[in-house]
Amino acid sequence: VGLSAVSRPLKIVVDHRLCVGNAQCVTLAPGAFRHNDQRQSEVIDPAGADEATILKAARFCPTGAIEVRDGTTGQRLFP
Ligand code: SF4
Repeated sequence: VGLSAVSRPLKIVVDHRLCVGNAQCVTLAPGAFRHNDQRQSEVIDPAGADEATILKAARFCPTGAIEVRDGTTGQRLFP
C-alpha cells in the first residue's frame, strides 16, 4: 500500500575481474544472476528481481563487482 507499482528497467554489469564467485548475488536474486562454468556471476535477466532486491544483491557482494544503473537514463544507482 502506498508503494509505486512502476518499476524502471535496470542495467546490471558484473565485473569479472572482481567477482570471486561466492554466489551471494545468485542466492539473493536467482532470477537475475547465475553462475557460469567458471563460477562467475552473469546477469541472466535484469528484470528477474525487483529493484530493491537487485540493489541488495549489489550491496552484499563482498567485492563490489556489481554495478547497477537506470536502464533508461544510465544514472548509476550502485555503487
Ligand atoms: S556476490 Fe559478487 S563476488 Fe559473489 S558471485 Fe555475485 S558478483 Fe560474484
